[in-house]
Amino acid sequence: MDTTPFDFDGLREECGVFGVFGHPETIQLISLGLFALQHRGQEGAGIVTFDGETPHPHRGHGLVSDVFQPEKTKDLRGSLGIGHVRYSTSGNNSTSDDAYRNLQPLFLETAFGGLAVAHNGNLTNSDSIRKRLLDEGKGFISTVDTEVILQLIAASKESTLVEKVKDALSQITGSYSLIIMTKDMMIGVRDPFGFRPLKHGELNGATIFSSETCALDSIGAKFVDEVAPGEMLIVTKDGVTVDDLPQKGKVPISGCVFEHIYFARPDSLIDSKTDFHAVRIKMGQQLAKEVIQAGGIHLDYAASVPDSGIPAAYGFSEESGVKYQTFFIRNHYVGRTFIAPDQINREKKVRMKFNPRRIFKGESFMLIDDSMVRGTTSKIIVAMAREADLGEVHMGLSSPMIKHPCHFGIDTPDELGLIAHNMSHEEMVKFLGVDSLTFLSLPGLVKAIGGNGHCTSCFTGDYPVGSLGK
Ligand code: SF4
Repeated sequence: MDTTPFDFDGLREECGVFGVFGHPETIQLISLGLFALQHRGQEGAGIVTFDGETPHPHRGHGLVSDVFQPEKTKDLRGSLGIGHVRYSTSGNNSTSDDAYRNLQPLFLETAFGGLAVAHNGNLTNSDSIRKRLLDEGKGFISTVDTEVILQLIAASKESTLVEKVKDALSQITGSYSLIIMTKDMMIGVRDPFGFRPLKHGELNGATIFSSETCALDSIGAKFVDEVAPGEMLIVTKDGVTVDDLPQKGKVPISGCVFEHIYFARPDSLIDSKTDFHAVRIKMGQQLAKEVIQAGGIHLDYAASVPDSGIPAAYGFSEESGVKYQTFFIRNHYVGRTFIAPDQINREKKVRMKFNPRRIFKGESFMLIDDSMVRGTTSKIIVAMAREADLGEVHMGLSSPMIKHPCHFGIDTPDELGLIAHNMSHEEMVKFLGVDSLTFLSLPGLVKAIGGNGHCTSCFTGDYPVGSLGK
């Protein structure tokens, strides 16, 4: 069942995580932090706090504002806690009662006390580890790969929590940004490739972890630094210490480029001088350079497919001198629709969300979107543009062709569901009904993002983690 009916043809982020250590208003801070991270997962949300000895968990399906109603969270006490917003690629992703057990943070009573974990990522060897643990007589309370991490930590023979975590992480492959919590310790850790983000913040002496800096801003916390790939930040009442996973620096840094293209909120910082909005403008500028270089088309206006295409369309307009124009008006009230998903087809959904302005008869438009996955929504958008009697409809994407699925925590169709895997450029132009179609080149994307250390596997099929069998 399509549970997020208006985000049906894009890549979807899997999760957002947030943690607070050492603040009397932990529950409020986590609620606000998760609210700021809502774009990273709308399927469910959860929190676990510790009040010295006793854990206080609360989880539920739906948006943060639904799950964290005051009457449901008033008894969650403690000065440390972790939270999670979920969109799943692993385990049951429906909103059924059965799927409730897959909501995070996961919590387990262990020989060394209560242990909670919030995970953003996707393990590539969880099935084989799960089978081994089941064969050894262990039981599982969920079907998500995150529980493999929890069980491995609980089962480790090492003597300290830090060593148990290292022991567990040495056995897993894939992507993970984790916040791990016991009653008196919190650990923030990123896999050595750095696929998914994790930021370190500070608020009045309390330590904060967050997937993005926008959530630090939302509680008035200072952004200290990112947790580096392969780095562990260990937080106790005595302060913060840093430790490294053995693989740190020994594998290629592979931050997901889709954080830059689409996932991260535009106001989140990449570093102290750059936010994601600025990078997306550069992608649009680069796209314009490539369109100009190819030549052969006349444009009256550049317009975005809102909202995610807006900064790239600005950049395109800036670089090309083609006037920016608002063409599609987005209905901001669509969301959890009042019509059951199975009673409404894709075309109606797109028409509920977007409507073109019908005053540009005969004009030539470049419509700019961030990415194309299946192409089915783009086809409807182009048809709507044609209905508005535009002269020419060109389409530009501020990312390269997605030809391969993601195995590191992003929900993508398999290869057969990806338009760029199955069609030639000419076939895509025909299928979409556009006058021209331009994808940003991979070198152009890398140039716009700057620096090294990005995963681009869904464009290239070249995966940085060797074995992807689960
Ligand atoms: S394969 Fe694509 S979506 Fe997945 S982590 Fe790499 S860049 Fe991101």
